[in-house]
Amino acid sequence: MPLKQMPARSANHLAKKGAIVHQWIDSRSIKRPGKLCENSRMNIDFRQAAFITSVPKADRAPPDEGAEVAFAGRSNAGKSSALNAISEQRGLARTSKTPGRTQQINFFDLGGNHRLVDLPGFGYARVPQAMKQQWQLNLTEYLHIRQSLRGLILLMDCRHPLTSYDQQILMWCADAGLAVHILLTKSDKLKRGPAGNSLLVVRRRLPEFHPGASVQLFSALKKTGIDEARQVLSDWLCSG
Ligand code: GDP
Repeated sequence: MPLKQMPARSANHLAKKGAIVHQWIDSRSIKRPGKLCENSRMNIDFRQAAFITSVPKADRAPPDEGAEVAFAGRSNAGKSSALNAISEQRGLARTSKTPGRTQQINFFDLGGNHRLVDLPGFGYARVPQAMKQQWQLNLTEYLHIRQSLRGLILLMDCRHPLTSYDQQILMWCADAGLAVHILLTKSDKLKRGPAGNSLLVVRRRLPEFHPGASVQLFSALKKTGIDEARQVLSDWLCSG
């Protein structure tokens, strides 16, 4: 049964039982992007990104209109740094690190009814189990119900890619028919050879989890991979 048809109590019950959340997502019920718009390559100015709001759950999100792309990753993967680098704003994602907002979904306006969405960082063990389960439910609900969601940017430290958390997210998205592009972050921490190797290994293993996903190297510090990431974002945001 798709999550949105599932009574809240039974959804919570399943989460407590450790049910595999991705099985709840019925990909047929999700409308996903079609063709690219003609001028997608010039539409979006990421430097004008501006904070809109922080919400605890998808049902409190801004109107589900236009198009948005969400960023997800383990805590410390480099998500805030990537958002800042892509928007060329040092403080943009600081909003998401404000106490009280770290477990919230943060929305940023790009103009033209386009948005970037910063999902809560996940994976550090010190969060209580009940909170992790609640976060899983909130994330799954967000991925499931947002019709304007065009794709997910998944951030992984290039030195520790494809953790079990990353694998699970990839499988949820594959089931939901949601496009995923991976940023292998902090690529400056590896020499050219090992960084290229990390890219190859991830690319080779991706079909196990999400056959359509793509991947690139990224360094917020050295500002490499920004144009490639912006191109994917522009294509998605202008699609459908
Ligand atoms: P988040 O928790 O996923 O938002 O991660 P942050 O963006 O806050 O980054 C976590 C840590 O990694 C910080 O100390 C950053 O300075 C560092 N970091 C992020 N991106 C890079 C990068 O491209 N290169 C290097 N060397 N460090 C980075």
